Amino acid sequence: MIDRQHPLLIVTDLDGSLLDHHSYRWDAAQPWLERLRQQLIPLVICSSKTAAEIVPLQKQLGLSGSPFIAENGAVLQLNSEQRLQPHSGSLSYSALCQQISRLQTQFHFTPFHQLSDVEVSAVSGLTLAQAELARQREASEVLIWRDSEGAFAAFQQQLAAQNLSLLQGGRFWHILPADCSKQAALAQLLTTLSATAGGKLTTIGLGDGPNDATMLDSVDYAVVIKGYSKQPVELHRPDKDNIYFTAHYGPEGWSEGMDYFLTPDT
Ligand SMILES: [Mg+2]
Repeated sequence: MIDRQHPLLIVTDLDGSLLDHHSYRWDAAQPWLERLRQQLIPLVICSSKTAAEIVPLQKQLGLSGSPFIAENGAVLQLNSEQRLQPHSGSLSYSALCQQISRLQTQFHFTPFHQLSDVEVSAVSGLTLAQAELARQREASEVLIWRDSEGAFAAFQQQLAAQNLSLLQGGRFWHILPADCSKQAALAQLLTTLSATAGGKLTTIGLGDGPNDATMLDSVDYAVVIKGYSKQPVELHRPDKDNIYFTAHYGPEGWSEGMDYFLTPDT
């Protein structure tokens, strides 16, 4: 059992966590979604997806108006009306794309802004409508690497010199301002929300991939959902009792983790 002295907040990854890796369904998590809604416990989506992809999903999940973190922490939405600025710079998406495009004289890669919806659909397996939402980017860019491994190291160095960081996603690479991360966006969100709540919030985080590790290290209780990634999810927190590794994948594992930390009738 966990510390319930403070209000709870749940933060979750989507693909492979709340949503099934293959079918994108969440049936197994539905009872918990209803319980959280009844108890007014906020559920914050923290994903590499764009805001344009997350908003309709929030509606389907019954989470409209809840805060969310999009584009791996480069976008932070507080509620239906309010956006927070998750990084110190004010690099617009178009300026970021221009900056990245200049590197195409030295390296071979294709950024999403140079692809059509049809092309993104073809390389990602997303439907055309989903590809259109995935391309509505605001603060980070996605690219397909087409150069050698050696060139990749040089590419990464050049990005770092320009204050940009590179994150590996499921299929593609994500480029974002260096001071953006899921963890940093969550810290900023918690500062804002705990000020409103008048004190500390107890957080439970759920994720299945290496890109969730910083988020899972920063919450009070971490659920590592069994995933398909070849790389393990390595956490560095010392409080091993507050980490739970699920036996099940996706929404079944999500529900299992919630059961572990919160008895269903609390
Ligand atoms: Mg995932």
